[in-house]
Amino acid sequence: MIVDTHCHIHQSDYPVSVDAVISRMKQADVGWYVGVGTDRQSSTEAIDFCRRRNDCYSAVGVHPHETRNGYQIDDLVDANSVIAIGEIGLDYFYEHSPRDVQQKALIAQLKLAVKHDLPVIFHVRDAFDDFWPIFDSFDGRLRGVLHSFTDTIENLQRGLERGLYIGVNGISTFVKDPAAQSMYDQIPLDRLVFETDAPFLTPAPLRGKVNEPANVRLVAEYHAARRSLSFDDIAKLTSDNAANLFGLN
Ligand SMILES: [Zn+2]
Repeated sequence: MIVDTHCHIHQSDYPVSVDAVISRMKQADVGWYVGVGTDRQSSTEAIDFCRRRNDCYSAVGVHPHETRNGYQIDDLVDANSVIAIGEIGLDYFYEHSPRDVQQKALIAQLKLAVKHDLPVIFHVRDAFDDFWPIFDSFDGRLRGVLHSFTDTIENLQRGLERGLYIGVNGISTFVKDPAAQSMYDQIPLDRLVFETDAPFLTPAPLRGKVNEPANVRLVAEYHAARRSLSFDDIAKLTSDNAANLFGLN
């Protein structure tokens, strides 16, 4: 069994048939997956999607890109399937929302995570210098995962020191930069979780197709080979990590 800790197949604009995607996911032995919100609508869609299924958990949050349109999700957190706040964070690469708005939205949603004692799915891109002071201002009350982590070994270390899990997806299967490859190899096995971010970031050798949770196997196979582990061993380790991350033990 393997877990996809981050996907968006619940969204109404997911471009392929969800029934087919779910059946391929079963064949690939993906035991469960997290449907992650990026705004109020997709968070609501995640809750509704998971309500009808027993292999799905939802996360509610407003992605930094969307924060300029508001970030009030307090009333969504109590739904049964909600196991995390996210994806939330800072994105200065695209900067679709002004930086000060992104920061205010992040702080407001982190307060919500603390209030409800939930882990956080973090999206941070080109913004760690502003991110760490905000994270640290919560004095150790936050836990969660750095989703789609592609940053430096230094920021990996800062995340590990703070007890965070590290989410690795298809990007890791096609990066050519040796420094980036070695960063992925240095993520401790007890902090590593896999994800697809479907429909985005399709792993090699399927690049160009719409991504789906079944493809989390390709990410796991790639890292099993690099670490000289069996697929079953890395699948078990990372599934246990995912359960710990989201408090599903
Ligand atoms: Zn995502």
